[in-house]
Amino acid sequence: MRKYPNALGVAAATRPTSPVTLVRPHAAARAARYFVENFPGKSMYAVKANPSPDLLRTLWNAGITHYDVASINEVRLVRAVLPDATLCFMHPVKAAEAITESYFEHGVRTFSLDCQEELDKIISATGAPDDLWLCVRVRVSSEHAKLSLASKFGARAEEVGPLLMAARQAADALGVCFHVGSQAMTPQAYSDAIRLVRTAIVDAGVTVDVVDVGGGFPSIYPGMDPAPLASFFEVIDREYEDMPISYSAELWCEPGRALCAEYASVLVRVEQRRGDTLYINDGAYGSLFDAAHVNWRFPVELVRAEPSTDADEPFSFFGPTCDDIDHMPGPFPLPADVKAGDYIEIGMLGAYGAAMRTAFNGFGDSETVEVEDEPMASLYVEESDALKAGDVVPIFGQTQ
Ligand SMILES: *Cc1c(COP(=O)(O)O)cnc(C)c1O
Repeated sequence: MRKYPNALGVAAATRPTSPVTLVRPHAAARAARYFVENFPGKSMYAVKANPSPDLLRTLWNAGITHYDVASINEVRLVRAVLPDATLCFMHPVKAAEAITESYFEHGVRTFSLDCQEELDKIISATGAPDDLWLCVRVRVSSEHAKLSLASKFGARAEEVGPLLMAARQAADALGVCFHVGSQAMTPQAYSDAIRLVRTAIVDAGVTVDVVDVGGGFPSIYPGMDPAPLASFFEVIDREYEDMPISYSAELWCEPGRALCAEYASVLVRVEQRRGDTLYINDGAYGSLFDAAHVNWRFPVELVRAEPSTDADEPFSFFGPTCDDIDHMPGPFPLPADVKAGDYIEIGMLGAYGAAMRTAFNGFGDSETVEVEDEPMASLYVEESDALKAGDVVPIFGQTQ
């Protein structure tokens, strides 16, 4: 992969006519090391956030050994890229064929489920072996998260007891898992969820071997300033100590966003300006799905050799396709003189950004290059470290 110092280096050297994904392996490795060293249990990467093989290798080299996969293609991909990784199939509704192939051909032993029908399916698709690790997915609130994951999966409180008892019969190790929603802003999301799960376990009279607190750990975006990750880990550690767990129980988490948001940004070009609206060459069907569909705001920077001296003004973006919904309302603050032909770097697109790109309307081709500078914001860099490193000061906890 070609390497450049930063977005300006890419723009100056290649004048790209399609969006370019700029990856920062050092930022993903730093995030992975932070989880490996500080989370009080095992950190498993949720592959759907960004399945890039380069990223998977970077995370593996930084110490991430477990991968949360949710489809047979993710199972095959991770197994091909990381032959020694431990894969956990954490989608509660799976095809029987996917379970069979992942168990017999790819060494998957851990499966999640949220109903008796799925439990029966897992048992029959694997031939009722004695080495299954089964995690019962419990429905919890998404009230502290920016993106809900509360309405699709998860056994309800009254269903959890019978399901735990049934899974206990079939499992070598029994676990509970949940997902508090993506981009959880406060640790209370996890304390509320763990307490709810604890009550269910006590009522069922079982002990569990795995407590998997799922994903949801935040990153930094404009207007979203989450509590520090350390405070999430402290709360989870404390609540976990109070769980009715076996002596050898394990604590797991499944971060997606938090491990890869800082990994990638996208360099786009302004094709036309109409007032305060910029027509750019990436959009809702590309890496800006969340910016269009859930009005997520990402940090932006004008990429010019001679920085503009104009003050920032709020802009909105249209993407390249012919659809009205290919619209990113923002607002995105950019210098008032931004014009057609300018390049813009859109930051923090490593999670659910690059991974969402489609080829709709003939767009969607994108080159990927490596850059060496810091991401536009970081949850993992203290200002003092950044100054020592001589980099642009990363934004620590800042909201713009
Ligand atoms: C999407 C997902 C994750 C990752 O969530 P983030 O909010 O990106 O951390 C983890 N586990 C499961 C089961 C998921 O569906």
